[in-house]
Amino acid sequence: MIAGWLLLLCALPCLASAAPQVGRDYLVTGAPTSEQAPQRHCTPAMQAELTERVEIPAPPEGWSGAPQAVNVFNIFAGEVRVHHGDREICGRMHDARTRDSRFRAGVGMVVVPPAGNHEPIQVAWATPLKPGWIPTVRIGAPSPVQQFDTARLLVRTSCLAIAIALAFMALMGFLSTRDRVFLGYTLLCTLTVLGQAVLSGLSGYPEPWLPIGEQEARWLVVFSCLALPVLLYVMWLLVGAARAWPTTERWLPWLTAAICATAVAALWLPRDALSRLAVGMDAGFAVGCPAILALGLANLRHRRADALAAIAAVLPFLAMTVMDLADSRLLIEYRVEAIQFSITWFLTVSAYVLNLRLGHLRRQRDEMRALADTDALTGLPNRRAGLQRLEQHMADARNGAGALSVGFLDIDLFKRINDVHGHAVGDRVLVAVAGTLTSAVRTPVDVIRMGGEEFLVLLPGVGGDAARGRLEQMRVQVSAAGDSLAIAGLTVTASIGLATFTADDGDAASLLRRADAAMYRAKRAGRDQVVEAETALADST
Ligand code: GH3
Ligand code: MG
Ligand code: MG
Repeated sequence: MIAGWLLLLCALPCLASAAPQVGRDYLVTGAPTSEQAPQRHCTPAMQAELTERVEIPAPPEGWSGAPQAVNVFNIFAGEVRVHHGDREICGRMHDARTRDSRFRAGVGMVVVPPAGNHEPIQVAWATPLKPGWIPTVRIGAPSPVQQFDTARLLVRTSCLAIAIALAFMALMGFLSTRDRVFLGYTLLCTLTVLGQAVLSGLSGYPEPWLPIGEQEARWLVVFSCLALPVLLYVMWLLVGAARAWPTTERWLPWLTAAICATAVAALWLPRDALSRLAVGMDAGFAVGCPAILALGLANLRHRRADALAAIAAVLPFLAMTVMDLADSRLLIEYRVEAIQFSITWFLTVSAYVLNLRLGHLRRQRDEMRALADTDALTGLPNRRAGLQRLEQHMADARNGAGALSVGFLDIDLFKRINDVHGHAVGDRVLVAVAGTLTSAVRTPVDVIRMGGEEFLVLLPGVGGDAARGRLEQMRVQVSAAGDSLAIAGLTVTASIGLATFTADDGDAASLLRRADAAMYRAKRAGRDQVVEAETALADST
């Protein structure tokens, strides 16, 4: 790791010297090109595609002589041609190289009609895939037209970037939780990234990077056949409908998969059928959205929080449906951006729900971990967690944190307490002893229930006589705890084995063995006392 950073530091001056020219106040990068400007004239094959056209007439007094920027938006597939006088440009949304480099969200050109000229500017395009998707032409001074184009491009790329970021976030969620819901969401984001790239023409910017060639119409239908049913299905899940009607879970995923399968068919369908499939898919989605809203509202009455998320997710799609019915100019002009915004909004709301799920999973994991580490009766750490804690203290002691002592405590004749007073009283004694020991140490997690009526007390930073003194105190307090239960005939005493960590204790087991041996020595010596391990071992040998 450190070697890697050193290598990078050494490489930096070399990288800097690779720049062609560096002055004190300027930097020139790149290299002179021998590449020819891309071909932009329209071939007969391109011309054959141009079935629709519009003529933008000159003003009554003729063109002013000023440059006119003409930019054509919302052509999702096929060729576009802008033509005036001897100037013409042909290009496709999906091949940025065939277009005027000034325009990226549309296919455009700047023409300069001579002053007084009356020839209209002609714009032609291929038959749109969806009849309701109306091409939009913007004409004006080059700079503002270019600004509109750039603003659209920014919205389009931002939506794409957000979907990519959310996909990565979900992938990380999957890697850390192994919860398949996160993987499903990653796939959904990836699907929408590809779909949005085709829809917005960004599949061809700055270079064609999706291998859709001149089949953009087909791919647009493929992605909508994949994405729309999945979006509806996710909304169905969000809205809580799967919980309300559990039987639907048996067939709805299959129906969604079957609709998605028609996406494959779209690759071979003739253009007319393709167009009908695209329109049908949009209509199905437009019907599904109000249904989701209705379900969301119904579930809202039942105080389901995720229903609110589903309502929020579906709202932009509903707004688009209403605007479509009202022939809204705004939607006609900004259809791509509206669709991309709705998808991004949907993904963001779903990511919020996913985050809630992540929080829920984390809480569940923490609870399970706490349960696995805790003794149910006393609330103390159990043997497993206690041994980990002891290993940690031993590592600290080896690193010079000071002495470490442990006290192994066993309640005397506890079986008799159970037999005479009943199991319930036995339990109360265990809880009382646990409470007393916990209040006698600095950190409560240093008292461990090892099992039955045996406890381990960890005393980090305490050794020798001080440890003995502390454990003696605890022995007395345990008796007092028994008395405080005020049960006639009940006396509680404990035998404690004390071991102080030495360099010879290779692991926790050896330290515990010594403490345990010392505790049994205390039992043999008449119970109710503290015995030190060294003494016990020395005596036994
Ligand atoms: P000694 O002084 O030699 O330690 O005698 P003892 O009776 O304390 O030792 P023994 O190991 O024979 O008995 C321990 C008893 O603790 C047996 C078991 O029934 C009881 N015990 C173990 N866990 C629990 C518990 O959670 N609740 C109750 N009430 N009793 C328990
Ligand atoms: Mg015991
Ligand atoms: Mg006992």
